[in-house]
Amino acid sequence: MVAAMTCPDCGADIADADDLVAGRRVHRLTVRDDGTVVVDLANTVTLWHCAHCDLAVGVS
Ligand SMILES: [Zn+2]
Repeated sequence: MVAAMTCPDCGADIADADDLVAGRRVHRLTVRDDGTVVVDLANTVTLWHCAHCDLAVGVS
């Protein structure tokens, strides 16, 4: 994992927690080639948004 990134939307440097806003907790899912969706109900991830433009830039 890289120590810092640049937001692809607004170009802000994302280097520490102040540059991120925690978003929704969401389930991991897989969209299959036949169009069906498999949701992993046992596992969720937290979305992290750019603090400057609110683009979702990562999960943890
Ligand atoms: Zn941004």
